[in-house]
Amino acid sequence: MTTTTSGSLTGKDLHLAFGSNRVLRGIDLHVESGTTASVIGPSGSGKSTLLRVLNRLIEPDRGDVLLDGRSVLKDNPDELRRRIGMVFQQFNLFPHKTVLENVALALRKLRKMPADEAEESALAQLDLVGLKHKAQVRPGNLSGGQQQRVAIARALAMGPEVMFFDEATSALDPELVKGVLALMADLAAAGMTMVVVTHEMGFSRNVSDTVTFMDGGVVVESGPPAAIFDDPRTPRLHSFLSDVL
Ligand code: ADP
Ligand code: MG
Repeated sequence: MTTTTSGSLTGKDLHLAFGSNRVLRGIDLHVESGTTASVIGPSGSGKSTLLRVLNRLIEPDRGDVLLDGRSVLKDNPDELRRRIGMVFQQFNLFPHKTVLENVALALRKLRKMPADEAEESALAQLDLVGLKHKAQVRPGNLSGGQQQRVAIARALAMGPEVMFFDEATSALDPELVKGVLALMADLAAAGMTMVVVTHEMGFSRNVSDTVTFMDGGVVVESGPPAAIFDDPRTPRLHSFLSDVL
């Protein structure tokens, strides 16, 4: 698998409150170009909100977001979201459209690609995720794992510089998780810059280059997987790991 040029991503001192609920309390995160950062932490710690602030689905109260060292907070948010692909727990595919149309649609609408070119490009992406043979079926006829791979193909078709995954395997039956994680590992190995929020500690340890542990809207610890998993420094990480491992 090959990817287009991928960028480095930096979140600097990000703050965000929903009313009196201070959900992000000064988050720093740096992802080198071509590396994968996993983000782990208990439910409600602000992981999804962090991704949404990093791609400007929500504006931070304070702080900055940089792509390749340049602040993107003043850019058009639509432009930024084209540079950052996002995959959610729910696949959000259009049920009445074919798999091919699901992938080609954004290319036509957002990238203004002619229909035949969009289809060709969509087929190439489906081939990369191993689902070219399902191009003409509707998402409902696919397994959850296959649907998630279509959602990944759809995001990749846009040629993003960075990919975000927010618990991409959490809604899947256990036997379907492996295939999606393998695809994500292939992408990481191909040099995509990725931020992966996950409960899959095996992926975090074995695939990601850095691990960030969040709790209560702050980064409690971050570092290479070996440091995080084998040598936790804080009681909070220690207790989190003993709950999930
Ligand atoms: P995580 O992904 O780590 O489980 P979230 O980022 O989803 O955590 O949520 C962190 C906190 O922010 C929670 O207390 C949640 O209730 C709150 N929150 C998230 N989104 C919103 C929203 N749109 N409006 C109000 N509160 C929100
Ligand atoms: Mg979440």
